[in-house]
Amino acid sequence: DHVDGPLLVADGISKYFGGFKAVDEVSIAVRDRSLHALIGPNGAGKTTAFNLLSGLYEPSSGSLTLAGAPLSGRTPEEVSAAGLGRSFQITNLFPSLSVQENIRLAVQAASPRRMNPLIRAEGLEEVNDQTAQILDYAGLAGMETAEAASLSYGGQRLLDLGLALGNHPRILLADEPLAGLSVAERERIGRLLKALSADIPVLLVEHDIDRVFELADRVTVMNEGHVLLDGTVEETRSDPRVQEVYIGS
Ligand code: ADP
Repeated sequence: DHVDGPLLVADGISKYFGGFKAVDEVSIAVRDRSLHALIGPNGAGKTTAFNLLSGLYEPSSGSLTLAGAPLSGRTPEEVSAAGLGRSFQITNLFPSLSVQENIRLAVQAASPRRMNPLIRAEGLEEVNDQTAQILDYAGLAGMETAEAASLSYGGQRLLDLGLALGNHPRILLADEPLAGLSVAERERIGRLLKALSADIPVLLVEHDIDRVFELADRVTVMNEGHVLLDGTVEETRSDPRVQEVYIGS
């Protein structure tokens, strides 16, 4: 169903650890068909903000909505069922199963009806179709029969992206998807996320600022728990305050 306005909206969310405000009245709006990057120097509050946005932490104050529906008070599982996908966790995959079997399980798990042993032929076909689509979408075509454990680190990231897609997310959140990868893998996964964002908006926390400037449609810069700037790549790149916090870090 179509959504007017931004898909994921954080409105003045805060997170206190004791008396310390790690995230202080942060507002972020992620729109359809966009790759939105959250950047900032170390300690800016990005990880904490990401954990708030993905439902891992409950905000101390402020509100969070997905397609207009409030996310507060829901468990991480409920947030995920509402369409918020987290990717690049790696830990979710079954190491001794093949790439295809892993994706298949994710597709089936998203629809428990299909796990029924009396599964109808057409249901089975749907699972097969979706599995093939996701393998293609996540850049895993040609790797179907490889054991998950045998994949390179970059390959495991792709598989994890595929697992997140199996859950039919309306938005995908990725925490440092490019960290620890080779230059070639960074380029490949960067391009893949960009292509994906045309259908499923992507919010990512990323340290590779050059890659962010290459890929992002929108950038939110955090510093000391606050939003320093929310704008286009051009606005972000040319803002003296942004340059200052990066040089100062
Ligand atoms: P970033 O991801 O931008 O580096 P973080 O969100 O990890 O920033 O941290 C922001 C600030 O909050 C830091 O000063 C950090 O020490 C503090 N912080 C993060 N998590 C906790 C926690 N669980 N308890 C106390 N302080 C925390």
